[in-house]
Amino acid sequence: MKDYYFSVIKFPVFVSLTLLILVGLFFGMALASYGKTGLGTWETVLYTTIFIVLVFMVSNWILVLMSTHSVIKPPRMQRFSAWMLFNIYYPLAKTLNSVLLRKKTGFQESFLNFTNEIVMCNYSPLKDPSILVLLPHCLQNAECKIRITSDISECAECGKCDISTVKQVLNKYPVKTAVATGGSLARKLIVDHHPDVIVAVACHRDLVEGVRDSWRFPVFSVLNERPKGPCFDTTVSVAAVEFAIKRFLR
Ligand code: SF4
Repeated sequence: MKDYYFSVIKFPVFVSLTLLILVGLFFGMALASYGKTGLGTWETVLYTTIFIVLVFMVSNWILVLMSTHSVIKPPRMQRFSAWMLFNIYYPLAKTLNSVLLRKKTGFQESFLNFTNEIVMCNYSPLKDPSILVLLPHCLQNAECKIRITSDISECAECGKCDISTVKQVLNKYPVKTAVATGGSLARKLIVDHHPDVIVAVACHRDLVEGVRDSWRFPVFSVLNERPKGPCFDTTVSVAAVEFAIKRFLR
């Protein structure tokens, strides 16, 4: 529980730190300019503009933090905050993570946990929601002779990989399950199905890219496990996938 807590707060702490650094730099530079020669017209305009942008970024960040515990309204504001999260705050925090030479995977995991919290909190239950479960092709046993491209119903359930368990468990729910062999196919499946919510299973990098690409959709991320190394005979916690589906069907 403690580990999960820290893996969730790392991303928001990094964003908050970055914003604090930017605010500190702003005041340092503005005061230095003012102390030297006073502020000319153009400098006043420049510093006022930067100040407004910073106030806006900090206020919006507070809103994003609040969205992990309460629903943001109206939905248009929710979408705008999501855009800011994926396109502004994530790159800022990622830069700080690189500067501090922290592990990329820990940071990505924290980002995904954070976005999961927001999705869980802000998802408004729908009647008969359309749920798309996206699985990575590396979940399939490398020696399997069946070519599962997008539909897992073709799996013969021999039990050599987690596709069979996923198939058996998800058959109980009204969800569409698909295997994506890459980012392009995942994007196509999302465009084709236009789901209300997506439960995506993949590795750190693919999930972060996918979640950012599909920021208009609520995406619940489930990290796969890679006991034999990346992209080869991976496994997944089917319980985590089922937990998300039950929550969205509630
Ligand atoms: S469980 Fe399904 S996908 Fe996995 S190896 Fe067996 S038949 Fe192939």
